[in-house]
Amino acid sequence: MSQNRPVVLLVEDEPAMREGLVHNLEFEDFEVRAASDGPSGLEAARAGGVDLVILDVMLPGLDGFQVLQKMREAGSDTPVLLLTAKSLESDKLVGFKLGADDYVTKPFSVLELVARAKALLRRRGKKSASLDRYKFRDIEVDFVAMEVSKGGDAVDFSLKEMEMLRLLIEKRGQAVSRKDMLKIVWGYEEGSLPATRTIDTHIARIRNKLGGEDGCDFIKTVHKVGYKLED
Ligand code: CA
Repeated sequence: MSQNRPVVLLVEDEPAMREGLVHNLEFEDFEVRAASDGPSGLEAARAGGVDLVILDVMLPGLDGFQVLQKMREAGSDTPVLLLTAKSLESDKLVGFKLGADDYVTKPFSVLELVARAKALLRRRGKKSASLDRYKFRDIEVDFVAMEVSKGGDAVDFSLKEMEMLRLLIEKRGQAVSRKDMLKIVWGYEEGSLPATRTIDTHIARIRNKLGGEDGCDFIKTVHKVGYKLED
């Protein structure tokens, strides 16, 4: 275990959502503590050692607003990112008034949530382990601005292609399985994984976009497993 991983407390009552987010956040090199209702979330926040709280608003016991309010009343200044099912302007205002630092409206993409979480940690000066930008050969990828360029020219990337490229870059030098790609990029769960041809189609597109005249030699096919980026 690396010692500088930021610690995230995730308070979410829906088991599937919670487990999916835990998996994704751990993959993004966060250390995750999870709670499934308001009171246990508040207790975990009070226990300390948490760099960021991702807090669902609709929770049993105490709702997210109440948890946030009690945290702030107790003097905690840990950044809080609210997950709200409503896009109501009034909800956002209530959240910010109570001291939330940011919010994401459900349904959200994991990439968006992770980007917001990292931005909050950056604001607090705690460096997150993952990359915001990556440069190799004549390719530059900016995961914050969501831009890719090759030889200085912008290349169009879909959100899924961007998420796949991010995975490959973060795990560069290691094989990333199609199964992990389906889970992390598409959010599928073990046991309900679809055919993996989707992955191959997306990889083909990424190779086309980033490859030179001789093709794309840095995204390797790993036999029977998946793909690997060698920069
Ligand atoms: Ca909920």
